[in-house]
Amino acid sequence: MTPSMKKPPFLLASLFPSTCLLCGAPGAAGLDLCAGCAGELPWNRHCCVRCALPLDGPGDAGTLCGPCQRRAPSYERCIAPLRYATPLVTLVGAAKFRGRLNAARLLGQLLAESVRHAGEPLPEVLVPVPLHRARLAERGYNQALEIARVLGQVLALPVAHGCCERILATLPQAGLDEGSRRRNIRGAFSARSPLGWRHLAILDDVVTTGSTVEELARVLYRAGAERIAVWAVARTP
Ligand SMILES: [Zn+2]
Ligand SMILES: [Zn+2]
Repeated sequence: MTPSMKKPPFLLASLFPSTCLLCGAPGAAGLDLCAGCAGELPWNRHCCVRCALPLDGPGDAGTLCGPCQRRAPSYERCIAPLRYATPLVTLVGAAKFRGRLNAARLLGQLLAESVRHAGEPLPEVLVPVPLHRARLAERGYNQALEIARVLGQVLALPVAHGCCERILATLPQAGLDEGSRRRNIRGAFSARSPLGWRHLAILDDVVTTGSTVEELARVLYRAGAERIAVWAVARTP
């Protein structure tokens, strides 16, 4: 093969060839991720069918985790293809705190692929978890919105980021236990009512205990939503 034949067919692809964000090797399948690093990602294959909580063993298809058996979440189902472990912590941190929009794009592409694989009926609209104005001003962007934009492009879905807002500047959820997280987030969101959509997916980067998405879902149901899914890149064990 002559060197010219190896060139990607599109001008943009040759100007900005994909590069693995984890090891710097050429990317595969048009992603900023090489095949080797993709194979080593902590895929969340064995997880609760309802909330995507990682489960220890392979389990049966349709296994519910203990918390969901006791009290199911109000949303229909959470899709979270990866476990929040190395190197996801690095990738999410890059997308969230260091303004690395190529990391947000990669995370969005991985999530979009998993949603497509799951074969769920697609919602009418994507709703990224909103940031409080003060946090947004400090960070300059909302990583959930950036990830949602990628999904919107790949899956041809509109992104609604003006339909709800975060009205309370809550403490960061990280470092709080489950009960404190629920109390911390209560009343944090408000939504336009009537919402105008019945079936939507809430978008977030990482779901930990689920109290943030649960609280946002509560507000969106009250504003007229009938079916809510949660799509997140990663779920904590
Ligand atoms: Zn790599
Ligand atoms: Zn569960």
